[in-house]
Order: sequence, then structure tokens, then C-alpha cells
Amino acid sequence: MLNVRVPDALDDEIAAVLGSGSLGVEVAAFRPGMTELRVYLGQTEDTGVWRERAAQVLSAHGLPADASELAIDPVPDGRWVERWQASLSPIPLGRRFVVVAKESALDQGGREPIRLIPGMAFGTGEHETTRLCAAGVEQQVTPGSRWLDLGTGTGLLAIVAARCGASRVLAVDSDPEAAAVASEVLAANAAGDVVEVRVGSIAERCGETFDGIVANIQSSFFIANAASLADALANGGVLLASGFLEDDVEEIASALSASGFRVEALASEGPWACLLLLRGER
Ligand code: SAH
Repeated sequence: MLNVRVPDALDDEIAAVLGSGSLGVEVAAFRPGMTELRVYLGQTEDTGVWRERAAQVLSAHGLPADASELAIDPVPDGRWVERWQASLSPIPLGRRFVVVAKESALDQGGREPIRLIPGMAFGTGEHETTRLCAAGVEQQVTPGSRWLDLGTGTGLLAIVAARCGASRVLAVDSDPEAAAVASEVLAANAAGDVVEVRVGSIAERCGETFDGIVANIQSSFFIANAASLADALANGGVLLASGFLEDDVEEIASALSASGFRVEALASEGPWACLLLLRGER
């Protein structure tokens, strides 16, 4: 975990930047006027790189190094899980679903439950980008379509795609721990026969093409992989791209346009954006 202490007025902005690529950011009061951002990092992350990233974000906001404290504290897995479990109340997702803890069997007001198991992976349905992607997947999945979920985290979006009628979903995550969590969550939701999990990234599609891709990943991913994303889609396929701020949309849209994508729609929640793009004719 990376602790960054910032003035209250800047907490949202800095949390948004540090949230990208991390497991999640907890925002806690530190002392009057100051907020502590607790940035949870995957076990394979390079803490030196994150320390540097935090220092850059602070200096970009004109904060001197001594205005904030950076401390890397290891968080024992158990504590993370407990915290996560305690914070997990049912979270409505899209129009049809609600995310619940695995044990919960209560009626959820007509919404279909998706059961999550606490673990060290991003994707509880709380984050704006997950919510934007889930709504997009709900709208875009057609019965029998094939989907690729890039950066699956807990596997939540893959489950939404399967429940909405996809006949095959390939879910990949570069973090082996996230992939393990996703496999467990898929089994708990009886989605294991439609969704296949692989550790890795877009290369793990092994030449397969899809009718839709959902990718909730940091902005640099789209810029570096625009051509590979286009290759992974069948003609008329859709790409739901999120994990970045509205401020970054122009740059990402232009990288994707250069690889043959057309922007069809932009949705946003707070500072976060989700692009719907098409490749070829529908
Ligand atoms: N899809 C989930 C989780 C998104 S978090 C949701 O929408 O809530 C982003 C996930 O992408 C993380 O689990 C991270 O490990 C993974 N990831 C980051 N970079 C990646 C890359 N280049 N290829 C594949 N997965 C990546």
C-alpha cells in the first residue's frame, strides 16, 4: 500500500490518477485539511515506480515534496480482505444486476445477484469505470456473441457478458492473482462454462477474433495496443474502452481512430470516461 497525504481540495483528482492501474484507493481523513489516500497495489507491482509516480502527481499539482508523506507499508492479505468484506454492501450494477458478497442469499429487489468473493483484485462494482463498462456490456452483448474481457480483475464484466447471452467470453488479466480470483468468482456464479480465464494480455487471444471487447485498463494500454485491439475484433465488432479520465479521451480516441475505430458514444461518471467504438460496418 502506498500512503499519500494531500490537501482535501486535491483528493479526488490525485486519487483518480493513482487509482489507475492500482487495485483501488481508499480515501481517509488524516487531519483537518489533509486527506490520506491509501493506494492498494498488486503484489507484483514495483513500489519504486509507484513512489515515483506519486511524487510526479504531487509536483504536477504544485505540491512540494514535504507537503506530503509517502510511505510504502505492506498490507497483510488478511487485513485487505477483512476491510473489503466489511465495505461490501449490495451494489446495483447496470439495469439488471446487483453485486453481493458470496454468502448473501437475500432477495435483491428483482435484480440478479452476481456473487463476489473477497480477494486481491479490482472490480467490486463500486468504481465508476466498472459501472460504465457493465452498462455498456449490457447494451452491446447480443445472444451468441463472443467477447474478450481485457483486464478482467474479479471477472465481473465477463460474468455480465455471459449472463447477457454471450456464448463465449475470454477473460485475461496480466496479474496472476487477479486471474485466480476471477476463476473462483466465475465458478461461484456458474459462469465457468462460458468464460475462460487466461493469465496475460491481448496476445493470449491466440488469433481468435471477437464480436466485442471490453477493456477497463489504464490509458497507456489503448495507445500502445490500438492495432492489436482492431485485429482482435471481427468486422462490425465493438470496443468498450474505459479506465481513463475524460481529459484523456481525445488522445485515446485519436490513437484508436488511426487503427480504424470510429467513436460511437462517450459515457462518463464523475471524471471517468467510457468510450464505445466500432470497427468496420455493423
Ligand atoms: N474489469 C474489472 C477490473 C479492472 S482493473 C472492472 O472493470 O472492474 C484493471 C485490471 O487490468 C487489473 O486487474 C490489472 O491487473 C489488469 N491489467 C492491467 N494492465 C493489463 C494489461 N496490459 N493486460 C491485461 N491486464 C491488465
